[in-house]
Amino acid sequence: MMTVNLSFWEKEAFFKEVDVLIIGSGIVGLNAAIAIKEQKPGYKVVVIERGILPIGASTRNAGFACFGSMTELLDDLSTQTADQVWGLVEKRWRGLQRLRERLGDNHIQYRPWGGYELFRPEEKKSYEACQAYMEEFNVALRAITGLSTTFSNKDQEVKEFGFGGIQHLIHNQGEGQIHTGKMMAHLLALARDIGVEVYNGMEVSELEPSTKGVSIRLKNNWQLKADQVMIATNGFATQLLPKVAVKPARNQVLITKPIPGLKVKGTFHYDRGFFYFRNVNDRLLLGGGRCLDVEGEETETFGFTPLIQDRLQELLSTVILPNTAFEIDQWWSGIMGVGDQKNPVVERLGPHMSVAVRLGGMGVAIGAQIGEEAARVLLDG
Ligand SMILES: Cc1cc2nc3c(=O)[nH]c(=O)nc-3n(C[C@H](O)[C@H](O)[C@H](O)COP(=O)(O)OP(=O)(O)OC[C@H]3O[C@@H](n4cnc5c(N)ncnc54)[C@H](O)[C@@H]3O)c2cc1C
Repeated sequence: MMTVNLSFWEKEAFFKEVDVLIIGSGIVGLNAAIAIKEQKPGYKVVVIERGILPIGASTRNAGFACFGSMTELLDDLSTQTADQVWGLVEKRWRGLQRLRERLGDNHIQYRPWGGYELFRPEEKKSYEACQAYMEEFNVALRAITGLSTTFSNKDQEVKEFGFGGIQHLIHNQGEGQIHTGKMMAHLLALARDIGVEVYNGMEVSELEPSTKGVSIRLKNNWQLKADQVMIATNGFATQLLPKVAVKPARNQVLITKPIPGLKVKGTFHYDRGFFYFRNVNDRLLLGGGRCLDVEGEETETFGFTPLIQDRLQELLSTVILPNTAFEIDQWWSGIMGVGDQKNPVVERLGPHMSVAVRLGGMGVAIGAQIGEEAARVLLDG
């Protein structure tokens, strides 16, 4: 790579007296920048991003506007207190309302088409547990979502969707879907509109805090300075903060070409959420399968493996579209940030640095709120 020094003019015009520098232009970094700029219009708020676009999870996810399937909630209740579980559900629900409010349903193509969880005959025990808890969950959710019934049985729709090898369907009335790309494009436009400066192709390699602020060294050897730095690099966080408890988790995704008369409509969770699929207009998007090789998928490298690709294609032809001709149009992968605990890490790391990472598979839902929480942590000192 050709190394070119920053000129006097460039330093003066672009990077002088930066009040807040946010690393990472994903959903968290951009929401944090917007919240800071709204509260401190006079601040110079700069977001730097290593990719030409944000290249992590925010532009590569499945766009489920979800707050927990029944098996996910039951699983969470086995490791966390009820208060923690419903607290996180509430955060996800409120976060989704915040995202919709901020960007507008039209801009993000929000579709309130509901979600479904699929059960195979061999998942009888898990299905029975869901039946036993359905009423209790609906009562708990009523207080959060205002919906009188969130979860209900929809076995009759198995046939309508044309699924193979599925015995039961549980419907979630509160779930929706968005167009992930449009959501991010709009968020970026909103940030720029209110005066946040966003620069791409800038990869941070080192941070050096001092009593006066933080020195930021980029991979191309440019050196910047800022009074406050926020690290919002999610699955890549340990590159800059080796001790933060976040691991990368790659997810592989495919989308089919348009399928005339596609019956699948909504968001769908299969095999306890290890696989997920939805319609994108008349295409089908399918992702997941990290459970097949958890260690191998703990990587910061984008890419695919035959093991997971084969399984996803098999699912398409045997379970999701068993009687329908389809062609795969495109594959991609995204990197999430996960940890032993499900909650994000939002904290101050010293007088001039803070961090907001580990969004897991919930970033669409909680990204807006976590960004705002991170802004509070940064501004409140
Ligand atoms: C395939 C997939 C499907 C998903 N589906 C859903 C879903 O349906 N619903 C849901 O709620 N969540 C889903 N998620 C999770 C959700 O996308 C994430 O939780 C969310 O996008 C995280 O946002 P973020 O801003 O924290 O991180 P990111 O979007 O990863 O942003 C971090 C940014 O930091 C940049 N960066 C990293 N290192 C550096 C550096 N050194 N210098 C400069 N920039 C750097 C990266 O390029 C990246 O753009 C999914 C994730 C994946 C991968």
